[in-house]
Amino acid sequence: MKAAILTVGTEILFGEITNTNSVFLSRRLNDMGIDVLYHHTVGDNPRRLAEMIGIAFQESDIVITTGGLGPTQDDMTKEIACQVMGDHLVMHDDILDFIRNRLLAYKAEMSENNVKQALLPSRCRVFFNDAGTAPGFALDGPAGGGSTEKRWIACLPGPPKEMTRMFEKSVVPWLEELTDGCLVYKEIRTFGIGESDLETALLPIIDGQTDPTIATYAKNGECSVRVASKRKSREEAERAVDEMVDQVKKYVGKFIYSTDGEEYPLVVGNKLMSRGLTIAAAESCTGGMFGAALTDIPGISAVFDRSLVTYSNQAKIDELGVRPETLEKYGAVSEQTALEMAEGVRKKAGTDIGISVTGIAGPDGGTEEKHVGLVYIGLSFGNQCICRKIDRRIKERQRNRRHAVLSMFDMIFRNVQ
Ligand code: ATP
Ligand code: MG
Repeated sequence: MKAAILTVGTEILFGEITNTNSVFLSRRLNDMGIDVLYHHTVGDNPRRLAEMIGIAFQESDIVITTGGLGPTQDDMTKEIACQVMGDHLVMHDDILDFIRNRLLAYKAEMSENNVKQALLPSRCRVFFNDAGTAPGFALDGPAGGGSTEKRWIACLPGPPKEMTRMFEKSVVPWLEELTDGCLVYKEIRTFGIGESDLETALLPIIDGQTDPTIATYAKNGECSVRVASKRKSREEAERAVDEMVDQVKKYVGKFIYSTDGEEYPLVVGNKLMSRGLTIAAAESCTGGMFGAALTDIPGISAVFDRSLVTYSNQAKIDELGVRPETLEKYGAVSEQTALEMAEGVRKKAGTDIGISVTGIAGPDGGTEEKHVGLVYIGLSFGNQCICRKIDRRIKERQRNRRHAVLSMFDMIFRNVQ
Protein backbone atom coordinates (compact mmCIF):
# COMPACT_ATOMS: atom_id res chain seq x y z
CA MET A 1 0.00 0.00 0.00
CA LYS A 2 1.17 3.48 -0.85
CA ALA A 3 -0.14 6.67 0.64
CA ALA A 4 -0.04 10.41 0.15
CA ILE A 5 -0.65 12.98 2.84
CA LEU A 6 -2.63 16.01 1.85
CA THR A 7 -2.86 18.80 4.41
CA VAL A 8 -5.49 21.41 3.72
CA GLY A 9 -5.33 25.00 4.90
CA THR A 10 -4.29 28.40 3.63
CA GLU A 11 -2.71 29.04 7.04
CA ILE A 12 -0.10 26.39 6.25
CA LEU A 13 0.77 27.99 2.91
CA PHE A 14 1.07 31.40 4.59
CA GLY A 15 3.56 29.91 7.02
CA GLU A 16 1.35 30.78 9.95
CA ILE A 17 1.29 27.28 11.39
CA THR A 18 3.83 24.50 11.36
CA ASN A 19 2.67 21.44 9.50
CA THR A 20 3.03 18.97 12.33
CA ASN A 21 0.17 16.82 11.02
CA SER A 22 2.27 15.66 8.05
CA VAL A 23 5.15 14.72 10.31
CA PHE A 24 2.92 12.72 12.62
CA LEU A 25 1.09 10.92 9.84
CA SER A 26 4.25 10.14 7.91
CA ARG A 27 5.85 8.58 10.92
CA ARG A 28 2.83 6.53 11.89
CA LEU A 29 2.10 5.32 8.36
CA ASN A 30 5.70 4.22 7.89
CA ASP A 31 5.45 2.42 11.20
CA MET A 32 2.57 0.49 9.75
CA GLY A 33 4.51 -0.52 6.71
CA ILE A 34 2.64 1.89 4.45
CA ASP A 35 4.96 3.86 2.18
CA VAL A 36 4.36 7.58 2.06
CA LEU A 37 5.19 8.88 -1.40
CA TYR A 38 4.19 12.53 -1.22
CA HIS A 39 3.29 15.34 1.13
CA HIS A 40 0.97 17.81 -0.51
CA THR A 41 -0.49 21.01 0.91
CA VAL A 42 -3.28 23.06 -0.63
CA GLY A 43 -5.12 26.14 0.54
CA ASP A 44 -8.84 26.30 1.18
CA ASN A 45 -9.67 26.24 -2.51
CA PRO A 46 -12.16 23.68 -3.90
CA ARG A 47 -10.74 23.38 -7.41
CA ARG A 48 -7.14 22.93 -6.32
CA LEU A 49 -8.15 20.51 -3.58
CA ALA A 50 -10.05 18.30 -6.04
CA GLU A 51 -7.17 18.45 -8.51
CA MET A 52 -4.64 17.59 -5.87
CA ILE A 53 -6.58 14.52 -4.71
CA GLY A 54 -6.69 13.35 -8.34
CA ILE A 55 -2.94 13.86 -8.71
CA ALA A 56 -2.24 12.02 -5.46
CA PHE A 57 -4.32 9.04 -6.61
CA GLN A 58 -2.17 8.60 -9.70
CA GLU A 59 0.46 6.90 -7.56
CA SER A 60 -1.07 6.31 -4.16
CA ASP A 61 -3.76 3.88 -3.06
CA ILE A 62 -4.66 5.95 -0.03
CA VAL A 63 -4.87 9.70 0.44
CA ILE A 64 -5.08 10.99 3.98
CA THR A 65 -6.22 14.57 4.39
CA THR A 66 -6.24 16.78 7.46
CA GLY A 67 -8.07 20.07 7.90
CA GLY A 68 -11.10 21.72 6.40
CA LEU A 69 -13.58 19.43 8.13
CA GLY A 70 -15.16 22.11 10.26
CA PRO A 71 -18.58 23.62 9.62
CA THR A 72 -17.52 27.04 8.33
CA GLN A 73 -17.54 28.51 4.84
CA ASP A 74 -13.88 27.79 4.15
CA ASP A 75 -14.17 24.14 5.21
CA MET A 76 -14.86 22.06 2.11
CA THR A 77 -12.96 18.80 2.42
CA LYS A 78 -16.13 16.71 2.83
CA GLU A 79 -17.79 18.14 -0.26
CA ILE A 80 -14.71 17.72 -2.41
CA ALA A 81 -14.06 14.17 -1.16
CA CYS A 82 -17.62 13.29 -2.21
CA GLN A 83 -17.17 14.92 -5.58
CA VAL A 84 -13.95 13.00 -6.29
CA MET A 85 -15.15 9.64 -4.96
CA GLY A 86 -18.64 9.85 -6.49
CA ASP A 87 -20.75 10.15 -3.36
CA HIS A 88 -22.99 12.76 -1.72
CA LEU A 89 -23.52 14.09 1.80
CA VAL A 90 -26.38 12.78 3.93
CA MET A 91 -27.39 13.40 7.51
CA HIS A 92 -26.05 10.69 9.86
CA ASP A 93 -28.44 10.61 12.81
CA ASP A 94 -26.11 8.62 15.07
CA ILE A 95 -23.41 11.26 14.57
CA LEU A 96 -25.91 14.01 15.29
CA ASP A 97 -26.78 12.31 18.60
CA PHE A 98 -23.10 11.88 19.40
CA ILE A 99 -22.36 15.56 18.80
CA ARG A 100 -25.46 16.61 20.77
CA ASN A 101 -24.36 14.51 23.74
CA ARG A 102 -20.84 15.89 23.61
CA LEU A 103 -22.13 19.44 23.61
CA LEU A 104 -24.52 18.64 26.46
CA ALA A 105 -21.59 17.46 28.52
CA TYR A 106 -20.10 20.94 28.09
CA LYS A 107 -23.52 22.55 28.60
CA ALA A 108 -23.22 24.10 25.15
CA GLU A 109 -26.08 24.77 22.76
CA MET A 110 -26.32 22.89 19.49
CA SER A 111 -25.90 25.39 16.67
CA GLU A 112 -26.76 25.07 13.02
CA ASN A 113 -23.05 24.67 12.34
CA ASN A 114 -22.90 21.68 14.68
CA VAL A 115 -25.81 20.08 12.84
CA LYS A 116 -23.87 20.49 9.61
CA GLN A 117 -21.05 18.43 11.07
CA ALA A 118 -23.29 15.36 11.02
CA LEU A 119 -23.56 15.64 7.24
CA LEU A 120 -21.19 13.03 5.88
CA PRO A 121 -20.76 10.99 2.69
CA SER A 122 -23.51 8.37 2.36
CA ARG A 123 -21.26 5.31 2.16
CA CYS A 124 -18.40 6.41 4.37
CA ARG A 125 -16.93 4.74 7.42
CA VAL A 126 -17.21 7.30 10.22
CA PHE A 127 -14.36 8.10 12.61
CA PHE A 128 -15.74 9.53 15.84
CA ASN A 129 -14.02 12.56 17.29
CA ASP A 130 -13.66 12.34 21.03
CA ALA A 131 -11.55 15.47 21.34
CA GLY A 132 -13.77 17.81 19.32
CA THR A 133 -16.98 17.76 17.34
CA ALA A 134 -16.04 17.35 13.66
CA PRO A 135 -16.09 13.63 12.78
CA GLY A 136 -13.66 12.20 10.25
CA PHE A 137 -14.36 9.47 7.72
CA ALA A 138 -12.97 7.10 5.12
CA LEU A 139 -14.44 6.60 1.71
CA ASP A 140 -13.52 4.40 -1.22
CA GLY A 141 -14.13 4.83 -4.89
CA PRO A 142 -12.76 4.09 -8.33
CA ALA A 143 -9.33 5.38 -9.22
CA GLY A 144 -10.76 7.34 -12.13
CA GLY A 145 -9.19 7.89 -15.53
CA GLY A 146 -10.84 4.73 -16.88
CA SER A 147 -9.21 2.49 -14.25
CA THR A 148 -11.30 0.07 -12.23
CA GLU A 149 -8.84 -0.07 -9.35
CA LYS A 150 -10.01 1.02 -5.96
CA ARG A 151 -8.76 4.05 -4.07
CA TRP A 152 -9.33 5.23 -0.51
CA ILE A 153 -9.51 8.65 1.03
CA ALA A 154 -9.49 9.29 4.76
CA CYS A 155 -10.38 12.77 5.94
CA LEU A 156 -9.31 13.87 9.42
CA PRO A 157 -9.77 17.16 11.30
CA GLY A 158 -7.01 19.80 11.33
CA PRO A 159 -6.42 20.38 15.06
CA PRO A 160 -3.51 18.06 15.96
CA LYS A 161 -5.02 16.85 19.19
CA GLU A 162 -8.22 15.72 17.48
CA MET A 163 -6.36 14.32 14.49
CA THR A 164 -3.83 12.24 16.43
CA ARG A 165 -6.45 10.77 18.75
CA MET A 166 -8.70 9.88 15.87
CA PHE A 167 -5.77 8.35 14.04
CA GLU A 168 -4.78 6.06 16.91
CA LYS A 169 -8.31 5.08 17.83
CA SER A 170 -10.06 4.73 14.51
CA VAL A 171 -7.72 5.10 11.56
CA VAL A 172 -5.20 2.47 12.67
CA PRO A 173 -7.87 -0.28 12.91
CA TRP A 174 -9.24 0.77 9.55
CA LEU A 175 -5.78 0.64 7.95
CA GLU A 176 -5.11 -2.73 9.55
CA GLU A 177 -8.24 -4.12 7.94
CA LEU A 178 -7.29 -2.57 4.65
CA THR A 179 -3.75 -3.93 4.70
CA ASP A 180 -4.82 -7.21 6.25
CA GLY A 181 -2.42 -7.25 9.19
CA CYS A 182 -1.95 -6.18 12.76
CA LEU A 183 0.73 -3.70 13.63
CA VAL A 184 2.36 -3.52 17.03
CA TYR A 185 5.20 -1.21 17.92
CA LYS A 186 7.23 -0.16 20.90
CA GLU A 187 9.36 2.87 21.45
CA ILE A 188 12.52 2.28 23.41
CA ARG A 189 13.90 5.48 24.89
CA THR A 190 17.57 5.99 25.59
CA PHE A 191 19.74 8.71 27.07
CA GLY A 192 23.48 9.24 26.93
CA ILE A 193 24.15 7.83 23.47
CA GLY A 194 24.09 9.69 20.16
CA GLU A 195 22.05 8.54 17.20
CA SER A 196 24.96 7.38 15.08
CA ASP A 197 26.54 5.42 17.94
CA LEU A 198 23.17 3.91 18.67
CA GLU A 199 22.73 2.88 15.07
CA THR A 200 26.25 1.47 14.88
CA ALA A 201 25.71 -0.53 18.05
CA LEU A 202 22.47 -1.94 16.67
CA LEU A 203 23.79 -2.60 13.18
CA PRO A 204 23.94 -6.39 13.61
CA ILE A 205 20.20 -6.47 14.20
CA ILE A 206 19.22 -3.55 11.97
CA ASP A 207 20.98 -5.11 8.99
CA GLY A 208 18.72 -7.22 6.86
CA GLN A 209 15.66 -6.56 9.00
CA THR A 210 12.27 -7.08 7.39
CA ASP A 211 9.94 -7.76 10.28
CA PRO A 212 10.16 -6.54 12.97
CA THR A 213 11.62 -3.30 11.65
CA ILE A 214 13.98 -1.26 13.80
CA ALA A 215 14.59 2.43 13.32
CA THR A 216 16.40 5.03 15.40
CA TYR A 217 15.17 8.58 15.89
CA ALA A 218 16.83 11.59 17.50
CA LYS A 219 14.82 14.34 19.12
CA ASN A 220 15.56 17.01 21.70
CA GLY A 221 18.81 15.50 22.93
CA GLU A 222 17.52 11.97 23.20
CA CYS A 223 17.43 9.02 20.86
CA SER A 224 14.78 6.39 20.64
CA VAL A 225 14.52 3.07 18.89
CA ARG A 226 11.23 2.09 17.38
CA VAL A 227 10.52 -1.59 16.91
CA ALA A 228 7.50 -2.49 14.80
CA SER A 229 6.01 -5.71 13.57
CA LYS A 230 3.10 -6.45 11.33
CA ARG A 231 1.63 -9.93 11.49
CA LYS A 232 -1.66 -11.66 10.91
CA SER A 233 -2.55 -11.61 14.60
CA ARG A 234 -1.86 -9.17 17.41
CA GLU A 235 -0.35 -11.90 19.59
CA GLU A 236 2.13 -12.86 16.90
CA ALA A 237 3.14 -9.23 16.35
CA GLU A 238 3.48 -8.59 20.09
CA ARG A 239 5.69 -11.63 20.51
CA ALA A 240 7.93 -10.60 17.62
CA VAL A 241 8.29 -7.07 19.02
CA ASP A 242 9.05 -8.29 22.55
CA GLU A 243 11.74 -10.63 21.25
CA MET A 244 13.33 -7.81 19.30
CA VAL A 245 13.17 -5.45 22.30
CA ASP A 246 15.13 -8.07 24.25
CA GLN A 247 17.71 -8.10 21.47
CA VAL A 248 18.02 -4.32 21.56
CA LYS A 249 18.49 -4.49 25.34
CA LYS A 250 21.39 -6.89 24.85
CA TYR A 251 23.23 -4.38 22.70
CA VAL A 252 22.42 -1.02 24.30
CA GLY A 253 20.67 -1.94 27.55
CA LYS A 254 22.68 0.38 29.73
CA PHE A 255 21.37 3.45 27.90
CA ILE A 256 17.70 2.44 27.98
CA TYR A 257 15.35 4.03 30.46
CA SER A 258 11.99 2.98 29.10
CA THR A 259 10.67 0.43 26.62
CA ASP A 260 7.13 1.70 26.30
CA GLY A 261 7.69 5.22 25.06
CA GLU A 262 7.42 6.93 28.44
CA GLU A 263 9.50 10.08 28.71
CA TYR A 264 12.12 10.69 31.37
CA PRO A 265 10.17 12.96 33.73
CA LEU A 266 7.33 10.45 33.88
CA VAL A 267 9.61 7.45 34.35
CA VAL A 268 11.46 9.18 37.20
CA GLY A 269 8.28 10.70 38.67
CA ASN A 270 6.63 7.28 38.78
CA LYS A 271 9.69 5.75 40.34
CA LEU A 272 9.74 8.37 43.11
CA MET A 273 6.00 8.05 43.70
CA SER A 274 6.09 4.28 43.90
CA ARG A 275 9.03 4.39 46.32
CA GLY A 276 7.59 7.31 48.29
CA LEU A 277 10.83 9.28 47.99
CA THR A 278 10.49 13.04 48.33
CA ILE A 279 12.54 15.45 46.24
CA ALA A 280 13.56 19.10 46.09
CA ALA A 281 15.62 20.82 43.42
CA ALA A 282 17.92 23.82 43.12
CA GLU A 283 18.13 25.14 39.58
CA SER A 284 20.41 27.70 38.11
CA CYS A 285 20.81 27.59 34.31
CA THR A 286 17.54 25.67 33.79
CA GLY A 287 15.51 28.40 35.52
CA GLY A 288 12.72 26.09 36.71
CA MET A 289 12.48 23.75 33.72
CA PHE A 290 13.12 20.71 35.91
CA GLY A 291 10.32 21.69 38.28
CA ALA A 292 8.03 22.40 35.34
CA ALA A 293 8.70 18.96 33.85
CA LEU A 294 7.92 17.27 37.15
CA THR A 295 4.74 19.23 37.75
CA ASP A 296 3.41 18.03 34.39
CA ILE A 297 2.84 14.71 36.11
CA PRO A 298 -0.51 14.24 37.85
CA GLY A 299 -0.11 13.23 41.48
CA ILE A 300 3.51 14.37 41.77
CA SER A 301 2.63 16.55 44.79
CA ALA A 302 2.96 13.38 46.87
CA VAL A 303 6.75 13.54 46.46
CA PHE A 304 7.77 16.86 44.89
CA ASP A 305 8.42 19.53 47.49
CA ARG A 306 9.97 22.50 45.67
CA SER A 307 12.34 23.68 43.03
CA LEU A 308 14.22 26.84 43.88
CA VAL A 309 15.51 28.95 41.03
CA THR A 310 18.76 30.29 42.44
CA TYR A 311 20.31 32.14 39.55
CA SER A 312 22.64 34.67 41.20
CA ASN A 313 25.45 33.88 43.58
CA GLN A 314 23.58 35.73 46.30
CA ALA A 315 20.52 33.55 45.78
CA LYS A 316 22.65 30.44 46.09
CA ILE A 317 24.03 31.78 49.38
CA ASP A 318 20.68 33.03 50.75
CA GLU A 319 18.41 30.18 49.71
CA LEU A 320 20.72 27.18 49.75
CA GLY A 321 23.48 28.08 52.17
CA VAL A 322 26.21 27.74 49.54
CA ARG A 323 29.37 29.13 51.17
CA PRO A 324 30.68 32.40 49.74
CA GLU A 325 34.20 30.91 49.90
CA THR A 326 33.11 28.07 47.62
CA LEU A 327 31.74 30.51 45.05
CA GLU A 328 34.83 32.67 45.40
CA LYS A 329 37.30 29.83 45.04
CA TYR A 330 35.64 27.52 42.49
CA GLY A 331 33.00 29.70 40.86
CA ALA A 332 29.24 29.21 40.50
CA VAL A 333 29.71 26.62 37.77
CA SER A 334 31.73 24.02 39.59
CA GLU A 335 31.46 20.64 41.17
CA GLN A 336 31.78 22.11 44.65
CA THR A 337 28.92 24.57 44.12
CA ALA A 338 26.67 21.89 42.59
CA LEU A 339 27.27 19.64 45.58
CA GLU A 340 26.53 22.41 48.09
CA MET A 341 23.39 23.37 46.17
CA ALA A 342 22.07 19.81 46.27
CA GLU A 343 22.91 19.41 49.97
CA GLY A 344 21.50 22.84 50.71
CA VAL A 345 18.12 22.36 49.08
CA ARG A 346 17.70 18.90 50.55
CA LYS A 347 18.43 20.24 54.04
CA LYS A 348 16.15 23.23 53.62
CA ALA A 349 13.24 21.16 52.29
CA GLY A 350 13.84 18.14 54.48
CA THR A 351 13.40 15.76 51.54
CA ASP A 352 14.94 12.37 50.76
CA ILE A 353 16.59 13.71 47.62
CA GLY A 354 18.22 17.02 46.71
CA ILE A 355 19.14 17.60 43.07
CA SER A 356 20.93 20.63 41.65
CA VAL A 357 22.11 22.06 38.36
CA THR A 358 24.53 24.83 37.52
CA GLY A 359 26.04 25.51 34.13
CA ILE A 360 26.92 27.85 31.29
CA ALA A 361 24.03 27.66 28.85
CA GLY A 362 25.48 30.09 26.32
CA PRO A 363 25.61 31.23 23.64
CA ASP A 364 28.21 33.53 25.27
CA GLY A 365 29.78 33.67 28.69
CA GLY A 366 32.30 30.84 28.41
CA THR A 367 35.99 31.12 29.19
CA GLU A 368 39.09 29.19 28.17
CA GLU A 369 38.72 27.10 31.27
CA LYS A 370 34.95 26.86 31.46
CA HIS A 371 33.32 26.40 28.08
CA VAL A 372 29.79 27.14 27.05
CA GLY A 373 27.91 23.89 27.57
CA LEU A 374 29.69 23.02 30.81
CA VAL A 375 27.11 21.81 33.33
CA TYR A 376 27.35 20.22 36.77
CA ILE A 377 24.55 18.17 38.27
CA GLY A 378 24.61 17.51 42.01
CA LEU A 379 22.68 14.78 43.80
CA SER A 380 22.28 14.34 47.50
CA PHE A 381 20.63 11.08 48.50
CA GLY A 382 21.06 8.71 51.45
CA ASN A 383 24.46 9.40 52.87
CA GLN A 384 26.07 10.31 49.60
CA CYS A 385 26.44 13.49 47.61
CA ILE A 386 27.70 13.02 44.08
CA CYS A 387 28.27 15.18 41.05
CA ARG A 388 28.24 14.66 37.30
CA LYS A 389 30.12 16.91 34.92
CA ILE A 390 28.79 17.44 31.41
CA ASP A 391 31.13 19.08 28.93
CA ARG A 392 29.40 19.14 25.56
CA ARG A 393 30.78 22.40 24.15
CA ILE A 394 27.51 23.13 22.40
CA LYS A 395 26.71 26.81 22.00
CA GLU A 396 22.93 26.69 21.73
CA ARG A 397 21.29 27.88 24.90
CA GLN A 398 18.02 25.96 24.63
CA ARG A 399 19.71 22.71 23.68
CA ASN A 400 22.03 22.98 26.65
CA ARG A 401 19.19 23.74 29.02
CA ARG A 402 17.03 20.88 27.75
CA HIS A 403 19.95 18.50 27.95
CA ALA A 404 20.72 19.65 31.51
CA VAL A 405 17.15 18.87 32.58
CA LEU A 406 17.30 15.40 31.03
CA SER A 407 20.64 14.83 32.73
CA MET A 408 19.03 15.64 36.09
CA PHE A 409 16.42 12.97 35.47
CA ASP A 410 19.12 10.58 34.31
CA MET A 411 21.17 11.27 37.42
CA ILE A 412 18.20 10.38 39.63
CA PHE A 413 17.24 7.34 37.53
CA ARG A 414 20.75 5.87 37.70
CA ASN A 415 21.61 6.67 41.30
CA VAL A 416 18.44 6.50 43.35
CA GLN A 417 17.77 2.83 44.01
P1 ATP B 1 -12.17 23.23 12.82
O1 ATP B 1 -13.42 22.48 13.08
O2 ATP B 1 -11.42 23.58 14.10
O3 ATP B 1 -12.29 24.35 11.85
P2 ATP B 1 -10.87 21.80 10.67
O4 ATP B 1 -10.84 20.32 10.49
O5 ATP B 1 -11.72 22.59 9.75
O6 ATP B 1 -11.17 22.11 12.18
P3 ATP B 1 -8.81 23.64 9.99
O7 ATP B 1 -9.84 24.71 10.11
O8 ATP B 1 -8.22 23.39 8.67
O9 ATP B 1 -9.38 22.27 10.55
O10 ATP B 1 -7.65 23.87 11.04
C1 ATP B 1 -7.94 24.14 12.39
C2 ATP B 1 -6.67 24.35 13.16
O11 ATP B 1 -5.95 23.14 13.24
C3 ATP B 1 -5.69 25.31 12.53
O12 ATP B 1 -5.94 26.63 12.89
C4 ATP B 1 -4.37 24.84 13.11
O13 ATP B 1 -4.18 25.36 14.40
C5 ATP B 1 -4.57 23.34 13.19
N1 ATP B 1 -4.02 22.69 12.00
C6 ATP B 1 -4.63 22.52 10.80
N2 ATP B 1 -3.86 21.86 9.92
C7 ATP B 1 -2.70 21.60 10.56
C8 ATP B 1 -1.49 20.94 10.19
N3 ATP B 1 -1.31 20.42 8.98
N4 ATP B 1 -0.50 20.86 11.12
C9 ATP B 1 -0.68 21.37 12.34
N5 ATP B 1 -1.80 22.01 12.76
C10 ATP B 1 -2.81 22.12 11.89
MG1 MG C 1 -11.83 24.89 9.96
